[in-house]
Amino acid sequence: MSVTGPRLQPVLFERSKPGRGDGKVPHPPKDALDRVPSDQLRAAPPALPELNEPEVVRHYVNLSQLNHAVDTGFYPLGSCTMKFNPKLNEWAARLPGFAGLHPEAPDEIAQGTLQLLFELEAMLAEISGMRAVSLQPAAGAQGELTGILMIRAYHRSRGDVERTDVLVPDSAHGTNPATATMAGFRTVNVPSAPDGGVDVDAFRAALGPRTAAVMVTNPSTLGLFEPRIGELLSAVHEAGALAYMDGANLNAILGRFKPGEAGFDVMHFNVHKTFSTPHGGGGPGAGPVGVGETLLPFLPWPRVLRETDGSFRRERPGERPTSIGRLRSFVGNTGVLVRAYAYIRAHGTALAEVTNDAVLAANYLKQRLAADGSYDIPFGRPCKHEFVASSTSLRKETGVRTLDVAKRLIDFGFHPPTVYFPLTVDEAMLIEPTETESLETLDAFAAALIEIAAEARSSPEIVTGAPQTAPVRRLDEATAARQPDLRWRPMTGRQMPCPD
Ligand SMILES: *Cc1c(COP(=O)(O)O)cnc(C)c1O
Repeated sequence: MSVTGPRLQPVLFERSKPGRGDGKVPHPPKDALDRVPSDQLRAAPPALPELNEPEVVRHYVNLSQLNHAVDTGFYPLGSCTMKFNPKLNEWAARLPGFAGLHPEAPDEIAQGTLQLLFELEAMLAEISGMRAVSLQPAAGAQGELTGILMIRAYHRSRGDVERTDVLVPDSAHGTNPATATMAGFRTVNVPSAPDGGVDVDAFRAALGPRTAAVMVTNPSTLGLFEPRIGELLSAVHEAGALAYMDGANLNAILGRFKPGEAGFDVMHFNVHKTFSTPHGGGGPGAGPVGVGETLLPFLPWPRVLRETDGSFRRERPGERPTSIGRLRSFVGNTGVLVRAYAYIRAHGTALAEVTNDAVLAANYLKQRLAADGSYDIPFGRPCKHEFVASSTSLRKETGVRTLDVAKRLIDFGFHPPTVYFPLTVDEAMLIEPTETESLETLDAFAAALIEIAAEARSSPEIVTGAPQTAPVRRLDEATAARQPDLRWRPMTGRQMPCPD
């Protein structure tokens, strides 16, 4: 492993020069420390790095440029919908009326924000065919938890307490079984059919008086629409269970398929994916949930309501006793919700074009790779917004694995696709181009993948040693995950930034 490269730089502590930062920050009044209670005073000043302003700014700006970002290049990370984030949304989210509003502001002075949230709920309900929406959950995973807790509350409200199981297909995102477990259920894994779809017969066999819910991702994490979804949902409801839809793949069905109308009882939206908030760094996001009639009483508290005089207010404590309660503070991650609102309004009635273009881009890439033949394309039928490719044949021929191909893509200036997920496909690459990429970008990406396969045959060590040009070379990912070393310690012992 090598962690040196031309563009990596020492940390600020290592660049510190005593006295360098002096004079720029106004000195506090002489008696400032007298006003701090003595038990709150440090024995010695903290060893902060001392640098001047340009050094600090350049340090951080240079660091920021070590990252691959959707603003600098193609980011086909499957299941994540890394579309370009319009700058208009950033403008809207930074408007002082939204960004500067105190979360505890009384409803009378928060009317604009409350109206936006109220209208966004209505838009998401329209898009999903659901009866109502709560914007509160902080991310998709928390939306799942919210949905399953509502399903639990529903069964309990009917005195139906024997339902202990949640059925989840084996291609599901890891958050689905995690959610079921956190909500106190037992996860029952159901195998997929050979065509990649939900195995309706296996589901039917697993359904019974113990089934509380079924969690389905449609289109699935293989990028395939479930052709037998209607049949599956009827079977779920006949068994007295409810159907949860993981809506992370909504980008593939906008204006084309409404989960609520199809019969799903509850779903979450990954607003930061479908409706464009920068989310490569892990948040904040938003995971609103939509519900049909059955779960309406259980929606989290507080909802945003419109009064008959047209004003908006939050539900008062205790106003709706059937609610499962609060999932997080306040009404949700409002900045992310403003971006979603701006994105939806900017597309207006042409929102379905997003899906049309995303699906076209994915099928184009899939067909280009299928025609070349260097990679296996396991599912032949047309995909939705993403598709699975696999390096199984390439590995058998050359020893080069999906991980190597992914690392080599970095040298070509691309972010790698999602790898080794879904778990049901050997040497998987899950590729999601999104609607925002040009034909030229798609062609360049396909050409890079094809060239990497050619390299694997002629000089595999180039691929297995990749990335060759990145500032950080191949990392030991297992050690990084098991023994993460996240803290810098001074090499010289001269300065101790914080006590051990
Ligand atoms: C992203 C994703 C999730 C989890 O969503 P977060 O917003 O990251 O919590 C769940 N299911 C699928 C299929 C996803 O792609």
